[in-house]
Amino acid sequence: MTNKIVLITGGAGGIGQAIAKEHLDNGNTVVLVDLKEDSLNIAKENLGGNNIEIIVGDVTDEGDVKNYVDKTVEKFSRVDIFYNNAGVNGPFKPIKDLDKNEFEKIMAINTTGVFLGLKFVLPQMEKQGFGNVVNTASNAAYIGSAGMPGYIASKHAVAGLTKTAALEVGDKNIRVNAIAPAAIDTDMLTDIRNNLSPGEPEKSGEALKQGIPFGRFGTPAEVAKVAYFLGSEDASFVTGSLYNVDGGMQAD
Ligand code: NAD
Repeated sequence: MTNKIVLITGGAGGIGQAIAKEHLDNGNTVVLVDLKEDSLNIAKENLGGNNIEIIVGDVTDEGDVKNYVDKTVEKFSRVDIFYNNAGVNGPFKPIKDLDKNEFEKIMAINTTGVFLGLKFVLPQMEKQGFGNVVNTASNAAYIGSAGMPGYIASKHAVAGLTKTAALEVGDKNIRVNAIAPAAIDTDMLTDIRNNLSPGEPEKSGEALKQGIPFGRFGTPAEVAKVAYFLGSEDASFVTGSLYNVDGGMQAD
């Protein structure tokens, strides 16, 4: 798989950058979308600077989503692979304490952001006659977790959107899958650890590791390998699937 045009939201984050690196290492071009220009520039520098475009955009804003798709197509004429990956996880509060606007903000980024990405990318892929989408769900797409109502609801919804989109475009040479990571060592996990044991992230880190059959956190690169596979022709008969990348957590 070379010379592919790979669009990645949340491209300045831990998993987004790792997916970009995997594709760059294999001779593809990446377009990174994220909220802030400075973090996108840092990501671009981290990744070596070549074959990388950056686009500032908020995945909850329909105009921004249309813009990141239009700009990619204007420049490269197509989107071969789309990683619908941007996400947030907090605030961490039980249902009774979570404000409506806090709940809606998580849903807007994690669910509406994925919906809008599909809404604008899939018609472009239909026009091309091919394409591949990999949404970022989570282990949270399968389970409940006290104190994380927004995150859990939003990622269950990503699983539903993945399966629905796969069925809508299955006869158009477009595949739609999802990765379901858990406990991957990025800023998001650091936030969770700080929340569980304020000021002592190592403490909750050790407790969290005890709940992982592998006894360790995953790396963003380990997620990127699976995401790359799903975006490649090696996964040519795979659609509507969720791939766990979680050190065995879902099996437990
Ligand atoms: P991260 O915080 O490093 O990256 C998330 C990125 O999304 C950030 O760069 C952030 O700026 C961006 N983002 C947030 N809101 C946005 C918006 N409105 N518009 C555009 N970009 C926005 O975390 P990560 O671990 O790399 O997370 C990537 C994805 O993986 C998320 O969807 C997350 O829910 C999912 N995930 C992560 C883990 C984990 O353990 N790290 C586990 C399961 C799922």
